[in-house]
Amino acid sequence: MLDRKTLVLNRSWLPVTTTTVRRAVVLMARGVAGAVHPGTFEVAHWEAWIERGPGDVGRLRAIGFEFPVPDVIVLTHYNGFPKLPVSFTRRNVYRRDGFECMYCGRAPGMGDLTIDHIKPRSRGGATSWLNCVAACVPCNARKADHPLASIGMSLRRQPTVPRWPGGLDPRSLQERPVWHRFIPAKALAGALGRSRS
Ligand SMILES: [Zn+2]
Repeated sequence: MLDRKTLVLNRSWLPVTTTTVRRAVVLMARGVAGAVHPGTFEVAHWEAWIERGPGDVGRLRAIGFEFPVPDVIVLTHYNGFPKLPVSFTRRNVYRRDGFECMYCGRAPGMGDLTIDHIKPRSRGGATSWLNCVAACVPCNARKADHPLASIGMSLRRQPTVPRWPGGLDPRSLQERPVWHRFIPAKALAGALGRSRS
């Protein structure tokens, strides 16, 4: 139970990472985080949480006393985002781009998406977040090694280096529907790898 995951929100209630219940409880005891009731959004700080706690969440007995297990905590000061970069992989590029072709906007499914180098590799284009986008097979074939402007194609949006959901592991998101209401819908769909059709 101590190794169960707790979702961590920053001061603006944006999800930044997950941690273990063990660490979440330490953050609460140090006064830098409060537990969020996932049903009512009520925030309880350490003493109130320990004393009363909501009656309808799981409880943990450890070190001689029993307390409610926080599913979600909110940090009282920290308002940044995790420093953890999202690893650059084919799938994460697709996730960032919403599983859509960045040229025509179709969502053909992961099996029919490819990675396109905006500035072609043959012209020195890098394999990087800012130079790679998801493209369907026909658009990638049409673009081939041409510079975009020369064949009248354009990007639907400029690629970015994703910072979110850097610390959120898609598997734990799947396992913890109680967290979903704290995660922006688009980011949630991306993290769960759902293709929007
Ligand atoms: Zn396309």
